[in-house]
Amino acid sequence: MRILVVEDEEKIANFIKRGLKEEGYVVDIAGDGEEGLYLALNHSFDLIVLDLMLPIKDGLTVCAELREKGKNIPILILTAKNSTQDKVSGLDLGANDYITKPFAFEEFLARIRALLRNKNNSESTRLKIHDLDMDLLAHKVYRGGKEIALTSKEFSLLEYLMRNKGSIVTRTMITEHVWEINFDSFTNVIDVYINYLRNKIDKGYDKKLIHTVRSRGYSIKE
Ligand code: CA
Repeated sequence: MRILVVEDEEKIANFIKRGLKEEGYVVDIAGDGEEGLYLALNHSFDLIVLDLMLPIKDGLTVCAELREKGKNIPILILTAKNSTQDKVSGLDLGANDYITKPFAFEEFLARIRALLRNKNNSESTRLKIHDLDMDLLAHKVYRGGKEIALTSKEFSLLEYLMRNKGSIVTRTMITEHVWEINFDSFTNVIDVYINYLRNKIDKGYDKKLIHTVRSRGYSIKE
């Protein structure tokens, strides 16, 4: 799952990014409100972490504009202010939850999981194909009931393949959905990661699930 963090304090932004990446999320950072709004409108994210005091455009304005433009994505407000009025304004403008800085990272993660759970209520939080089973919220993968340990990037890549099971995903699509926005797609990193995944989920099994579609990309199917 992909999260946009709109936060101008670099130290905090990097701290959040590192922590979320360790949990297997793909994370992009915007350093001001205008950039945050632009990224949110032009890329697909599963959730936005939004600071309120931001340069160029403040967080409340960003939140209001996203909702005006019909973006339903969950928004978690992150703020140093703890006046009741700011929290109320944020929630009234369409934010889903807030957390006050400084915060315990465990609580921050729990709030994110709760928002993603609500968002995904209609969708499933488990992805399945043949005997491969992925639990998105627990971040676990099983094949034939046996747990397979994946790195966070392998997990994101497999999740993207499974969300598109039966369809071909090109390297460009993978780059856009699994890697950060400034990722250099001219490298063969994607092929390398596909190999890592194959070694973990297909190697030793009669039925291979990850298929190469020549000159187009990859597909996961039975
Ligand atoms: Ca700030």
